[in-house]
Amino acid sequence: MYRTETISCPYCGELQDTDIDGSGGDQSYWQDCQVCCAPILFELTVSPFTGEFAVYVKRDDD
Ligand SMILES: [Zn+2]
Repeated sequence: MYRTETISCPYCGELQDTDIDGSGGDQSYWQDCQVCCAPILFELTVSPFTGEFAVYVKRDDD
């Protein structure tokens, strides 16, 4: 259950595509920005009913 999401880096604001795997349920993980290499916190929320998911990006100082 992969989906490509376009997110905006919370540090530099650059848009970038990232592959999200929603099969593991709710999760959060760090991934470096492809542009400025800052650590972005991805928070993934998956609906157990529909499999639809939403992704939020945060800075480490939020
Ligand atoms: Zn960035």
